[in-house]
Parts: sequence; structure tokens; C-alpha cells
Amino acid sequence: MAPLQVEKSRISNPIDFDKDGRRAGYLRAPLSRNTSGWGVVEIPIISVKNGKGPTVLLTGGIHGDEYEGPIAISRLARTLDPAKVQGRVIMIPAYNIPAVLNDTRLSPVDNRDINRCFPGNPRGTFSEMLAHFLDGYVLPHADVSVDLHTAGHSMESALSTNMHYVPDEAIRQKTMATAAAFGTPFNTVFWGVDEGATFTSCVERRGIVSIGTELGGWGRVNVEGVRLARRGIDNVLKHWGVIEGTPDTTQRDGSPATRHMMVRDPASYSFAPANGLFEPVNVAGEAVRAGSPAGWLHFVEDIDRDPIQINHQRDGVIWMAAGPGRVTRGDVVAVVMQGYDDKLAAG
Ligand SMILES: [Zn+2]
Repeated sequence: MAPLQVEKSRISNPIDFDKDGRRAGYLRAPLSRNTSGWGVVEIPIISVKNGKGPTVLLTGGIHGDEYEGPIAISRLARTLDPAKVQGRVIMIPAYNIPAVLNDTRLSPVDNRDINRCFPGNPRGTFSEMLAHFLDGYVLPHADVSVDLHTAGHSMESALSTNMHYVPDEAIRQKTMATAAAFGTPFNTVFWGVDEGATFTSCVERRGIVSIGTELGGWGRVNVEGVRLARRGIDNVLKHWGVIEGTPDTTQRDGSPATRHMMVRDPASYSFAPANGLFEPVNVAGEAVRAGSPAGWLHFVEDIDRDPIQINHQRDGVIWMAAGPGRVTRGDVVAVVMQGYDDKLAAG
């Protein structure tokens, strides 16, 4: 591994990642506040290592209102037996702890989305400081990163893993194989609308395999999402040989494996053209046709104004369905994914 060439972090880490056994403690991030000038914010971190082998990094709570990942990772962190591990598992179940405790996507400390702050800055805002530590001090130890998300309060997702289209074919194939091993109904390869400052982009810049998940949303705990999160992280550990066993990727409908999908272009996204009350037609995971309505924007405060119909622009399956009833002009109300095609993807 290349030596770390990063600016010094202000966050302290009690865990020696090179030591065998189970190591658990709290990262301490300084946060000066009115009641405590030298106050810190404590972030749980657990490393389980045994001998030589790959390192899997599991992160949850990057957004504070996404619950399935923190539940699944903290459960694994309490129960993983070092004797059954070959390699290393670094677990951070609730990284953006101020947002997690506040039950919001954005950090209440600086009102930032940490997943738009990477690669961060140790002297920047609190979220930028956290982003910098994760990128500079944790990621270089990892061979694969699994970052567990849901759609939070803003949307509902089809139960899925996701990954960027990575130009390097060897890494792309490894990433797709890892996603397939996780074993959700869908794996979505996408080119996001605003991806340059995300954690995933940092992982990829370091040549590390990166998958994310979308395991529910609408601001509640998705029962099937938790089941898939738990099975999925076990599956990834098995796939990478960190624990023994073969991944179980059987789907509820009896099919044996994940369906690889993609979100190729901006036309996959439907936006609200005005403020209003959105009536969706579809739930996540449903098949739709281009030109068919994604839903109607209602103006119930006005007796004369007709609803605006918003159409899907692509055939496919709903990856993300609208969240809150009331939407603001510019909010995404639906995202459609299509079957994965490696040739189309490269173009
Ligand atoms: Zn998220």
C-alpha cells in the first residue's frame, strides 16, 4: 500500500487497523460549541482483523435518515467473531453521527450533505473534516468499500446496489461481481447528475472497488431492506473470502440472481416543473413506458388550475419513486433504469 500523503486530520482515531482481533472505539472529531469550547463528537468505529486477506470497509449513516445500513452494520460489528475472519472488516455504522442523531440527510452542524463534500478538507466545515478523514485515513486501507444508503425522506428506491460506470474493465468487472454477490433484486450502474464530490468518486479515484446500496426510503425502516442489508454484507464478505461460505443471492420471486440495470442519461430523471402536490403513478420497482405519466402535479389551493402531467421519458423500471407529497420546482420525482448493456454503457 502506498504511504498516506494527506494533510493531517483534526480527528483522532483510537483503532490500530494493523492489529489482529476486535478493536472498537470512537473517532473523536473536534466541535467547539457554546457549552464546550474543547468539545468533541464521538463516532463509533470497529475493526475486526485476523491474519492476511482483503479489507472490506462497511459504512452507514453517511446520510442521517437512512436506517437499514446502520442497523445491519452495527449488528455485524457486535457479533463478528475474529476467529472466523480471514483478512479485515472495518465497520463505521453511523459515520455522519450528528445527522444520524438529528434524523436528517444534512448535517445539523453545518447544513451540508457530507456526500457532496468529498474529498473534504481538514480545516473546512465539520462535514468537510469528516469527508477528509474517511478519504485520507480509512479508505487507503480498503480493498472494497460497501457504502449503505437508502433514499432517505426524499424518495423511495427499488431495493438495489449501485455503482458508477468505471472505465477500467478489470475494476468494473470486479465491482459488478461484488454487487451481484450482495444479491439485491437490482444492481444499478449509473452516471449521476452530481457525482464529482461523492464518497464513491473518492473510492474510485483510489482504484478501490466501490458499491453503494439503495434499500428503501420514505423516512422509515424498510423490513426487506434490513434483511437484504444483513444478507448482502455477509455475502460480500463471503465473496471476498473474508468469511467462509457461498453468497446466497436467491430472490423472492425465485430468480437466482441480481438484475444488472443502468441509468444512462439525464432523460432517465423526471423533475417537478413547479411547486405543488405530486401524485405518483408508480411505486419503485415497477415497469414503465416512455411517454406514460410519472404522475400529476396538483395545485389544490387553486380551483381554476389544472394539474400538470409529468411523463416518463424512458422505458424501464422505476429505480427511485417520489417521496414527500409536496414537491418543489426542480425536485426529482422519478428515476427510470434500463437493462444493463456494456456496449451502450461504454458509449
Ligand atoms: Zn444516502
